Amino acid sequence: DGDYSAPPAECTPADGKSVNSPGFNGLGTQECIEKIIAWLEEKGIGKRAVNYKLRDWVFSRQRYWGEPIPLVHCPTCGIVPLDEKDLPLRLPQVESYQPTGTGESPLAGIDSWVNCSCPSCGDKAKRETNTMPQWAGSCWYYIRYLDPKNTKAFADKSKIDYWLPVDLYVGGAEHAVLHLLYSRFWHKVLFDMGLVNSKEPFQRLINQGMITSFAYQRKNKTLVPVDEVREVAAADGKPEEFVEIATGEKLERVIAKMSKSLKNVINPDDVIREYGADSCRMYEMFMGPLEVSKPWSTQGLIGVSRFLERVWALSEKPMTDSPRDDVSTPEAAELTKLLHKTIKKVTEDTATINFNTAISQMMIFTNELTKLESFPKSVWAEFVKLIAPYAPHLGEELWQKLGNSGTIAYVDWPRYDEKLSMDNVCTIVVQVNGKIRDKFEAAIGSAKADVEMTALACPGAVKFLDGKAPKKVIVVQDKLVNIVV
Ligand SMILES: [Zn+2]
Repeated sequence: DGDYSAPPAECTPADGKSVNSPGFNGLGTQECIEKIIAWLEEKGIGKRAVNYKLRDWVFSRQRYWGEPIPLVHCPTCGIVPLDEKDLPLRLPQVESYQPTGTGESPLAGIDSWVNCSCPSCGDKAKRETNTMPQWAGSCWYYIRYLDPKNTKAFADKSKIDYWLPVDLYVGGAEHAVLHLLYSRFWHKVLFDMGLVNSKEPFQRLINQGMITSFAYQRKNKTLVPVDEVREVAAADGKPEEFVEIATGEKLERVIAKMSKSLKNVINPDDVIREYGADSCRMYEMFMGPLEVSKPWSTQGLIGVSRFLERVWALSEKPMTDSPRDDVSTPEAAELTKLLHKTIKKVTEDTATINFNTAISQMMIFTNELTKLESFPKSVWAEFVKLIAPYAPHLGEELWQKLGNSGTIAYVDWPRYDEKLSMDNVCTIVVQVNGKIRDKFEAAIGSAKADVEMTALACPGAVKFLDGKAPKKVIVVQDKLVNIVV
């Protein structure tokens, strides 16, 4: 406020009010940007533009595997593109695609392929022998995947209209300014040529977090490989300790990237061999929000594996022929409500990619079923449909066990009735070390164990726990959960 015409006492890269700029004094950053652009355009000395930070991209590789570049070098005409009728240009079938030793592409050593005639003058010419980089294909594969056997076009227009743009793209953050930006560039070129129906290829992008691992750190911050560390189990109220075997130095357990040198790499093949693909897959979804980096915990994996065993055990229990939405007794009404709540929660959380909270709801559901002597087969069948995408192998087995033939993959997703899913809910506040980090809704009178499980899985708790195991969890009925770390 006040006099904006004076030179500033201090400059800032943050948003603020412009000063000492006749005609624009006192304007907020965004408004000022708009006004200055308008002023430049009005004067005809500048124009509005979006700058993509598209980096230069070396597009040729000296290796066999890669799309051949459809250009011909003619001594008379120079560089000439192949006729469209000669596309796609394919790699030659060869015995050996070893490097030539001259620095040239392996294709340069294959005379029968290299020598050709010029598409323009017909004289002797040579093909370009460099190949395209891998990203050349990954820039537009999502279009070709729609119609991979089409020999007339890269994809049929009706399929492009049906499928594109891509609903959800999941990829590592490291791609944001390279692969993904190139991909958008190609897509925009194709859009300008009228070959695709959208300006942007992807509607939604999620950068998944990295699965990290525990590592052990000396006082001087250097890390010790896992196999040189001894764990001293917690005893007499003292927490567990970690000691470097060679020196006896006490170490701090920290979270680090998996690396060969730290010997803390988890190989999915080993995990799958021991616990099965469903356990591995579901544990990864249960570890926490998809976007957050999380440390691998074999203990956590075992927990999920046991959950799947409990689900299987439930399938062995006696089942009745009662209808799905039975409310004829208070007990039946309770179960109906829980089923509808579970369908609702899993449906919504799956759509928003909150897999971990969907799984904790499934755990709550199965805990209730475990307490019952028997339950309706119609209710169980709905649960099997919910768990199938999360544990597909188990899902198929359970589906067959219910007497169905064919895969569960194409069975309709269960529907819920909002009215049947409602009950008296309360808001539970989640604290980590006494600070509010999240909240969620739970039924009044929910079991403490269920509330605790939901609290530990909610994004705020996962973020602030940062992979550490809680020391203590205090649940105040219908009010709050305090996690002490
Ligand atoms: Zn020529």
